[in-house]
Amino acid sequence: MTFLAHSVVLDVENARLYRLAITDGLTGLYNRQHLAERLREEVDRAHRYTQPLTLLLVDLDHFKRVNDQHGHAAGDQVLEEVAARILAATRDSDLVARYGGEEFVALLPNTGREGGQRAATRLIEAMHQAPVATEAGPLPITFSVGGALLNTREEPRDLLARADAALYQAKSQGRDRFVFNWLSFAGLS
Ligand code: GH3
Ligand code: MG
Ligand code: MG
Repeated sequence: MTFLAHSVVLDVENARLYRLAITDGLTGLYNRQHLAERLREEVDRAHRYTQPLTLLLVDLDHFKRVNDQHGHAAGDQVLEEVAARILAATRDSDLVARYGGEEFVALLPNTGREGGQRAATRLIEAMHQAPVATEAGPLPITFSVGGALLNTREEPRDLLARADAALYQAKSQGRDRFVFNWLSFAGLS
């Protein structure tokens, strides 16, 4: 009985430590390291079964201004709320991670061109619904999205690089929008 109780306590503690290791402390989303592992798995799976895989890279617009004008604490509140909205706007089968300070990744298994664009639209619109409540008052927040659909035999880093290039275009076209990188589109849709 005591042994059983101890092993249950250990299991709970191990589960807690595992969760801590794979999540981001501020937003509760998966962290970058866990994303890297899962991205590798999903890319392998997509290649093996010839299934589409879409990656969306999200970067807040002019987020430095939020910190500069309203303080770091308000900035952190924005990051938490944006994370929650991205999570709410995606499916349970999608993987959402905090990729960097104010960058997020949504990985959409079994999702091609049309589904990817629908998802990107939902994300952008989730920010238009309402301003974000912070200690500095409600703030209108937008982000830009760069999307890429996995190409034949493509490696994770190349998929990420293409999403990043698309994100750069979304920024230079005026922000608050998504751009997809179809340059290497292989016909999976
Ligand atoms: P752009 O529209 O081109 O993306 O402009 P930007 O201001 O969002 O881009 P930039 O990369 O210049 O600034 C990112 C800012 O994100 C700078 C940094 O202070 C802020 N940031 C990064 N991580 C955190 C965080 O954990 N908390 C807070 N509050 N701010 C953060
Ligand atoms: Mg950035
Ligand atoms: Mg930014």
